[in-house]
Amino acid sequence: MPTPAELAEALIQEITQQGPVSIADYMALANGVYYASHDPLGRQGDFITAPEISQMFGELIGIWIADIWKRAGSPAVHYVELGPGRGTLTSDAFRAMTSQGLNPPIHFVETSPLLRKLQAEHAPHATWHDGIETLPHDVPLVIVANEFFDALPYHQYIQTYSGWRERMVTHGMDGFAPIPGGVPAEEMVPEHLHDAIAGSIYETSPAGLAVARALGKRLHKQGGAMLAIDYGHEDYDAGDTLQALNAHAYADVFSNPGANDLTAHVDFTALAKAAALGGARISGPVSQGYFLGAMGIAARAAALGRRHPERIEEFGAAHNRLTSDEEMGALFKVMAMVSPKWPRPAGFLP
Ligand code: SAH
Repeated sequence: MPTPAELAEALIQEITQQGPVSIADYMALANGVYYASHDPLGRQGDFITAPEISQMFGELIGIWIADIWKRAGSPAVHYVELGPGRGTLTSDAFRAMTSQGLNPPIHFVETSPLLRKLQAEHAPHATWHDGIETLPHDVPLVIVANEFFDALPYHQYIQTYSGWRERMVTHGMDGFAPIPGGVPAEEMVPEHLHDAIAGSIYETSPAGLAVARALGKRLHKQGGAMLAIDYGHEDYDAGDTLQALNAHAYADVFSNPGANDLTAHVDFTALAKAAALGGARISGPVSQGYFLGAMGIAARAAALGRRHPERIEEFGAAHNRLTSDEEMGALFKVMAMVSPKWPRPAGFLP
């Protein structure tokens, strides 16, 4: 895998010889280098995720899985996590799941060799996959994806005075920069946006939608249930949400590709449609605050506080960070995709 400097060189050469590259290609190349080269999670890294904030997050997800699995008749299943990071969520979820008698084989969909190594410390017997295609076909799947869909490549389209164009990345005196492409792209944009004002941006992740649709199909065929948790919106219309994070601060999306984490907000309505098209039943999205509240995070924080009185403040702070509207509670959403033959999931509005 190239270093960020080598990636920049290769991109400049590509752009000089072949012309600008799409935002999606730029994002895929940059994130490929980024995730392969270092552990981005935690205080020393570039961003922190819910499972790294508190064990309660993974435990409540483990309880959610064990609950729906029991009500489905306790069948043999495979556990799948998409983009497991350090493997922390799986490790916490399994503590809760095994206490309920559920201890399925573990499958990780992960492209970074470095993160695979960290995941192996928590789950040495896991099976790793480059994509979802190779996941087993035999029995139902219970699937978790936390902050996975936001990292997949997004295409952007921009309204210009001569109509919609794909937004591309070029390279000039000031480094990498976005420009509208030369080819009309109106058919890539929903009809109600066709007359949007110049400068409007529409973004979509066909890669993410393809995963949602394929897994919806698998759940329909094999049985099982999936939780997708991410930051995003339920009512995305238009707007640029592409962002770069470095050392817990926003960075320039077009500087140092491969050195920053590039993500965009997840369009949950589009994700739900894709999964439903595949054949899954959708619950939510609800806010992360609602979901964790319904799954009993307050009681869990209190129980942990009774067991470790010296850490009461820490559990209270984590509870607040994960659920309050000003922190992660409202921006982050939780959506379930469930086989039509499985029961209704806990944690969602009736
Ligand atoms: N779920 C973890 C990590 C989130 S970071 C947590 O909550 O802490 C995003 C994760 O997705 C990383 O593990 C990254 O390596 C992985 N990832 C990113 N793009 C991917 C892709 N195209 N295929 C598989 N995994 C990918």
